[in-house]
Amino acid sequence: MAVAKVSLLDALQEHFGFEAFKGNQEKIINSILAKKDTFVIMPTGGGKSLCYQLPALMNPGCALIVSPLIALMKNQVDLVRSYSSKDNVAHFLNSTLTKAQIKKVRTDLLSGKTKMLYVAPETLTKQENIDFFKDLEISFIAVDEAHCISEWGHDFRPEYRRLKEMIDQINPDLPIIALTATATPKVQSDIVKNLELRMPEVFISSFNRPNLYYEIRPKRKKEQTIKEIVKFIHSHKGKSGIIYTLNRKTTEELADMLVANGIKAVAYHAGLDATTRAQRQDMFLHEEVEVIVATIAFGMGIDKPDVRFVIHFNIPKSLENYYQETGRAGRDGLEGICVCFYSHKDVQKLEHLMRDKPLSEREMGAQLINETVAYAESAVCRRKVILHYFGEGLEKENCGNCDNCRNPKEKIEVKNRVVIVLKAIKELEERFGSEYVVNIIMGVINPQITTFKHDKLSVFGEGKEFDAHFWNSLIRQMMLEDLIEKDIEEYGLLKIKEKGHAFLKKPYSLMVALNHQFEEEAAEDDAEEIAAEAQISADPVLFEMLKELRKKVAKEKNLPPF
Ligand code: ADP
Ligand code: MG
Repeated sequence: MAVAKVSLLDALQEHFGFEAFKGNQEKIINSILAKKDTFVIMPTGGGKSLCYQLPALMNPGCALIVSPLIALMKNQVDLVRSYSSKDNVAHFLNSTLTKAQIKKVRTDLLSGKTKMLYVAPETLTKQENIDFFKDLEISFIAVDEAHCISEWGHDFRPEYRRLKEMIDQINPDLPIIALTATATPKVQSDIVKNLELRMPEVFISSFNRPNLYYEIRPKRKKEQTIKEIVKFIHSHKGKSGIIYTLNRKTTEELADMLVANGIKAVAYHAGLDATTRAQRQDMFLHEEVEVIVATIAFGMGIDKPDVRFVIHFNIPKSLENYYQETGRAGRDGLEGICVCFYSHKDVQKLEHLMRDKPLSEREMGAQLINETVAYAESAVCRRKVILHYFGEGLEKENCGNCDNCRNPKEKIEVKNRVVIVLKAIKELEERFGSEYVVNIIMGVINPQITTFKHDKLSVFGEGKEFDAHFWNSLIRQMMLEDLIEKDIEEYGLLKIKEKGHAFLKKPYSLMVALNHQFEEEAAEDDAEEIAAEAQISADPVLFEMLKELRKKVAKEKNLPPF
């Protein structure tokens, strides 16, 4: 046993030059080498690739690695090759290759020189490929970004659902390794079911990224926000960063503004053709530009270890998205600053985007947005909220690396008010969501409420002296404290947890910080600005002017023309 351990470390040093394994890597690799089905849940940047790359190099034959994006594959193969002296150690097979290139890949595979073959799920659906793989010595199948299997994940891809069927055609006995950075239980069970993992060894790592600094900033006027961003980037001169925005138009506009302010920036979104996208991604990876302004189309699997900041110009549509997107900062374990601009108007925009979706999807989406809003408006440690979302606790009261912990808000005693909320939930027999509970506490009368015998409830109108914002914040806080929970499967009904029942029996002092900053911000979102914004995009002359300006600046600064 001891001998094997030493040699695994030797192999790591020989092939990758790393000093030591990170987290669960060694255990995972041992499980793969033992040919067991293995399920790896590890946050972005945790080092998942190495978990299959090292055993692929050590095992006889070639490992098949399923990867969802063509851009991702190239990036990965380039990286593997950079560690090896031989280019044919890794290849990818997808629709971008020419006939001649495919032939070369096949020759290398047959000669046994290739240890890793990255494939798109579509590649596996082609019978000629299946037939080819059948006769090849394959060591195992790795399914990277396995959350693509689940509709509950943040990147559902239907082709992923057919993988198991294809794998069985190649060889049903092949060990399968599934890897993802998505920790929600629903997605996890979807993955195990769909890939039919056989008593898999499951490895779940902590989702805490202690080196990431989280901050929420109120978003006021657009120009002011852009100014703040420019100032931020100037004070991090020469560092790489990503700015995420909600729509394509904003990526272009914002990139223009940054360029006009002497910052090397490009836009990236799904509306650009594949060549331009690949070009801009490479420019970012090779540091020809400092900043990439992108929609969520950018980033999955991008391995740039020294991204120093991720700025969200709009709040993302779920906390999971936020975690994944910010996760691209500081992958080398060094500084990573994550700033998110937040306004009520952006929340409305997100809600508006869902207006044409079917009802079930809208409800699911609304719930995800609510959780993001709760995060943004919270005065609690940001890390604690994020980890709680993934079902993980944080021991420390103060993480020391988020805005709320660096500048704690004043705390107030909420013992009696917590009792009111708990009583309300109890008297309503745990059959209502937070909006209804708050209405009861505040004594709001509407037809829906009067149908339930509100006058029989002892807490009706007990909390009149505070507004709905206060009670909603308190409810969210109580969830973090594990006093109550929201039943996601059941329309978000509030339920009392064990700790909550104990609190009701014997209330104790509870001090919490509540954030009132954002109530005032809402008032500043004026209609004038919305109108102005709409006008710019509608005015072709203005738009052309902006484009011209951009070209001119790019020329002056000797930037590549776009
Ligand atoms: P993930 O796929 O989990 O998001 P990656 O596999 O892309 O993460 O790895 C993230 C970074 O960590 C990469 O830059 C990789 O080279 C580095 N890395 C992985 N394992 C180790 C290790 N044992 N020691 C040092 N760096 C590592
Ligand atoms: Mg990865």
